[in-house]
Amino acid sequence: MKIAIHWKILIGMILGLAFGFFMKNLELKGIVIDWIKPFGTIFINLLKMIAVPLIVVSLIVGISDLKDVSKLSKLGGRTIVIYLFTTITAVSIGLVLANLIKPGNYINEQSRKSLLENFAGDAAQKIELAASAKSKGPLQPLVDIVPDNFFRALSDNASMLQVILFVILIGIGLILIDENKAKPVVDFFKGLNDVILKIIDVIMLAAPIGVFALMASLMVEIPDFSTLNALGVYALTVILGLSLMVFVFYPTLLVVFAKYPPIKFFKAISPAQLLAFSTSSSAATLPVTMECVTEHVGVDEEVSSFVLPLGATVNMDGTSLYQSVAAVFIAQALGIPLDLQTQLMIVVTATLASIGSAAVPSAGMVMLVIVLGQAGIPEAGLALIFAIDRPLDMCRTVVNVTSDATVSTLVAKSIGKLNPFYSNK
Ligand code: ASP
Repeated sequence: MKIAIHWKILIGMILGLAFGFFMKNLELKGIVIDWIKPFGTIFINLLKMIAVPLIVVSLIVGISDLKDVSKLSKLGGRTIVIYLFTTITAVSIGLVLANLIKPGNYINEQSRKSLLENFAGDAAQKIELAASAKSKGPLQPLVDIVPDNFFRALSDNASMLQVILFVILIGIGLILIDENKAKPVVDFFKGLNDVILKIIDVIMLAAPIGVFALMASLMVEIPDFSTLNALGVYALTVILGLSLMVFVFYPTLLVVFAKYPPIKFFKAISPAQLLAFSTSSSAATLPVTMECVTEHVGVDEEVSSFVLPLGATVNMDGTSLYQSVAAVFIAQALGIPLDLQTQLMIVVTATLASIGSAAVPSAGMVMLVIVLGQAGIPEAGLALIFAIDRPLDMCRTVVNVTSDATVSTLVAKSIGKLNPFYSNK
């Protein structure tokens, strides 16, 4: 019997969690760390390894297929506007929920003290990381997009935007030169694209084992639930917000603007969502997101090859929602009142901070430091939310990936590049 890939991944996850749970209780944590965790790391590395070649090749093919630079600017303009719209909506939902539920009021003095003490060191590390991002001028993010050396950018997974910029230029060059001269180059990349897609299929064969290892090691590594209890209401507020995005906001956008049945959509992208959950990294998930969106949702590769890599790096609705809830939570827990003006400021800073967050585990937390700083909330308050960050990171990454997939569907629909065969099936 052939079991669909998303079921296999789900089974791998559940077995991994159960296995990790038993090993933790049997005090055999070391075995999981030494002998199981490396397989999870290998799996994530395989995905990351293929992500940059995939972006380069599929973006060159996608853009040269557009055959017209004005089409590219139309595509780019729409993508950025919709990405901003979804992110601002996410931050706003986060702020409304945090103000209504007031999760900070549910944390008692004792847990507050012990969290601040226990996680002060971890928080200091993140604050230091954020300091280097903050110390440069306001236009630094713009400067950072332009590489001074393409090959250096290629060799650094954190320089995805630089790679995207250069590859867009190659695509534009291919559109502008004589078609006969462009053809052999494009054909070469088309062939390479097929090879890379096949490699992803092969890597995905290992997905159930990879997620098993990731979940088992997560289970033995997360702090005890007693620490997490105090953070329950905060975590639930974030999860409620993320659920509203996934189950209400995106389906509404899909139905209204793309006439796309949400259930079919979720079925198509579920392997990507499950991987986002297991790896906590939109960048590592990108190859699978691309495959799901192109082959199962029916978005033309011209659109997905542009919208998805860009989205993986700049569009993080889950992260921005989490940052707004976390900022308000920390302020409430520390007894700092936030006026309307400060909260509006959070909308701006959380949007920018999520754009600036790298698509890797816990990046959102580093950038949260900047949101806290701007709102006048002590950065050391980060220690309060440290214990529960990993599970929330897993959930927000699912939202980040779902948002990228949704926006690519909307953009594709708006320029007639959504395969109707898929949406009507
Ligand atoms: N882990 C997230 C991602 O890769 C980023 C974050 O919020 O930490 O999408």
